[in-house]
Amino acid sequence: MEVLKFGGTSVGSAERMKSVAELINYPGKKIVVLSAMSGTTDHLVKITQALLKKETTQAIQLISDLEPRYRKTVQELYTSPAYVHKGNELITEHFAFLLSFTQDMFTPNEEKTILAEGELLSTALFQFYLEEQKIASVLLPALNFMRIDKEGEPDLPYIEEHLNKELAKHPHSGLFITQGYICRNPFGQVDNLKRGGSDYTASLVGAAVYAKEIQIWTDIDGMHNNDPRYVQGTYPIAELSFDEAAELAYFGAKILHPACILPAQKRKVPVRLLNTMQPKAKGTLISETAEGHNIKAVAAKDNIIVIKIKSARMLMAYGFLRSVFEVFERYKTPIDMITTSEVAVSLTIDMNDHLDVIIEELERFGTVDVEINQTIICIVGDFLADKHGYALNIFDALKDIPLRMISYGGSTNNISVLIHGNDKKKALLALNEGVFKKLVKS
Ligand code: ADP
Ligand code: ASP
Ligand code: MG
Repeated sequence: MEVLKFGGTSVGSAERMKSVAELINYPGKKIVVLSAMSGTTDHLVKITQALLKKETTQAIQLISDLEPRYRKTVQELYTSPAYVHKGNELITEHFAFLLSFTQDMFTPNEEKTILAEGELLSTALFQFYLEEQKIASVLLPALNFMRIDKEGEPDLPYIEEHLNKELAKHPHSGLFITQGYICRNPFGQVDNLKRGGSDYTASLVGAAVYAKEIQIWTDIDGMHNNDPRYVQGTYPIAELSFDEAAELAYFGAKILHPACILPAQKRKVPVRLLNTMQPKAKGTLISETAEGHNIKAVAAKDNIIVIKIKSARMLMAYGFLRSVFEVFERYKTPIDMITTSEVAVSLTIDMNDHLDVIIEELERFGTVDVEINQTIICIVGDFLADKHGYALNIFDALKDIPLRMISYGGSTNNISVLIHGNDKKKALLALNEGVFKKLVKS
């Protein structure tokens, strides 16, 4: 079994959907995970925001703004009047459903139900197209098997059991289509895997069926060495290890959902990143073993908060760090970076949900300083401990940018620095000039 995920741009128009149908139409069992058509989830978010603010007229307007694009897709996607009719009926149904939320009191629980509409629409439209083209396929409802637990984490044993039950209902089928991103919570309510979550669905599905390979098809030819939204002349990386890819995803490489490598890594399923617009391009292969020892890529994670705790009690004391960590544990707030000196500890978080109480508790230990709008720049590669010079190159490139924290040696594949958010673009460009251009030349 293979798992192939197509992102928003890849299914963003009738033409793109037709290309996807061509790409998947080859022998062999596969599960195809689709995102919503590009821009749809953003639009649905706006609708829920209007509804939460009780701006009903605005919500109705937003819903009707979204509809023409879907009508157009139906007109362009199908050739027979019967399927144009079928497609239009589907859209009428879904838009009537969206409008029904403007009639009654809107509760925050219903927000996720609205956000699920994008993937439900794209998969249904796509599957009708396959039907019309006489390509045999089965639409698997993700809401029957994708589930998160009480902590909001995907429940892999549940997914494995229920997905396999769904697959067993169709022993003679080879092509399955399902929705990315959407799932249920432990109470059975519609939920999701957070923005960009279709990658995570693909990885969870791939892990659940022990797939031969998970392919993430997107609008770029693989993981690039630097963020192409800020830097020109970036290039794709042929191979990455699971650890390297996981770090890049977690630290801001938008091409992958932050957590999506972990399920694939757990079950050793290789992940390939491919470009729908250039299907022949090699892309990036992510697997257990990856070639090449050197600096491979850089990513940046925004909206970081740095907390500095200064305390004389830390001097020659043990147990101090444990007490500090316990505060973050109590508020389920992960720490990304940490540096310590004899009398101070600085750490970073990216969630401000419980910031006030965390600070209040930390103030029991000493003076606490907090700064927001920081960025972590994470440089990833395979840094052999006995080869010198990696750090020198990086810090030399960044010499004009104030570095607030440095993390080096935590693993052999990550060097991270904390800078002010305003310096992000400058840092990414400086690393391109000072590190990657030199690599290409050597
Ligand atoms: P999809 O809709 O297919 O999930 P995304 O927009 O989520 O696509 O991810 C692809 C985008 O990620 C690219 O168009 C690119 O702008 C952005 N991106 C950011 N960092 C990287 C990187 N290091 N390598 C490749 N793409 C990146
Ligand atoms: N449609 C969802 C989003 O835009 C999930 C995804 O595209 O991966 O966030
Ligand atoms: Mg994405």
